[in-house]
Amino acid sequence: MMLDAFARCRLHEDFEPVTEMGANPYYRPVEERLVTGEVLVDGRVLVSAGSNDYLGLSADPRLKDAACRAVRRLGTGTSGSRLVNGSLALHETLESRLAAFLGQQAAMVTPSGFLANMALGALAGPRDTVLADQLIHASLIDAVRVSRARLRRYRHNDMEQLDRLLDGCDPAAAALVLTEGMFSTTGTLCDLPGTAALARRYGVRLVLDGAHDIGLLGAAGRGAAEHFGLESAVDLHTLAFSKCFGTTGGAVAGPADVIVYLRHHARSMVYSAALSPASTAAALAALDIIETEPERRRRALAAADRLRADLTGLGYDTGGSPTTIIPVHVGDIVPCCLLWRELFAEGVFATAMVPPSVPEGRALIRVSATALHTDAQLDRIATAFAVAGRRLGLIS
Ligand code: PMP
Repeated sequence: MMLDAFARCRLHEDFEPVTEMGANPYYRPVEERLVTGEVLVDGRVLVSAGSNDYLGLSADPRLKDAACRAVRRLGTGTSGSRLVNGSLALHETLESRLAAFLGQQAAMVTPSGFLANMALGALAGPRDTVLADQLIHASLIDAVRVSRARLRRYRHNDMEQLDRLLDGCDPAAAALVLTEGMFSTTGTLCDLPGTAALARRYGVRLVLDGAHDIGLLGAAGRGAAEHFGLESAVDLHTLAFSKCFGTTGGAVAGPADVIVYLRHHARSMVYSAALSPASTAAALAALDIIETEPERRRRALAAADRLRADLTGLGYDTGGSPTTIIPVHVGDIVPCCLLWRELFAEGVFATAMVPPSVPEGRALIRVSATALHTDAQLDRIATAFAVAGRRLGLIS
């Protein structure tokens, strides 16, 4: 007899007590998403405090209308992958708009942000090295695994360690540096000046995942690269439409020859059905808004500043991120999930992040602010954190 492959199908040991206490934060279905940014869960209207929809576009009537028009004209599916019969003129319109927006030669739209990153797997091979920040997203790690390149990770924004790792790379093979503009769990920004200077010094390509920052940062919304005035230092950008673009899908933008190569070699382009007409049209409508309504960025960032000050004032450790993501550090899984449960009871729908999404012992509630949050909603979130934290003895 061999081992049963299903024998491993058990969750982390902490989940049993957490579930028994009614504090399992995962797979809670939203019944309705309101234009106010609130959500209906278990029949209750909750303030959304963990959304990636920073600009508040996912329930915007303009995106909904664009998606409905696309469905009427093109249907609900795409019938195949981009390579074969799934490419739409609408995808190409979005690709040229994205390339122009980001100042890159070309772009390709992928079925998700995860798959945009997975496409990067085609850029490295077994002899190459990929150097990556310790906090990069799972999709980037999986891309490196698929490429079979050697993954060397440096501590978050530790430029001295990156320098040493680059110094140790095989000059006869290629190397890539992978990082994120705005990190998804900590809300911190990449040290782009330091990273770009090292990439230039060692002559290696720099790939930036702009999933969270494109649309949000920079005066024109072109992300962390624009924020730092370093757009020309980014060789390739990846994007996710699931954040500022208020829909789903992703893209890779960069030099024309690289994009043509990826269209033929990235497994996510060749073997996964193309992005739906509804999401493609919604992303285009979102891009119009990103380009013309900079005040949404300012509102989201100002809401975050206010909420961060309130939560820090209550005594929570928020790590000092400068963006819309505010990590409320708790530590262990059980107290983190209990805090989530108490917030939920107080009418706040937040996100609990536990290992392996964060390092062991670094469980946190990931709070995010959006352009839709009113002062009253921000106050409700802060009050819920005050009541819940005191009830659990997390703050005094
Ligand atoms: N990159 C980063 C940094 C992310 O945080 C995420 C998802 N949260 C992705 C890529 C994947 O994007 P998507 O959810 O659109 O597939």
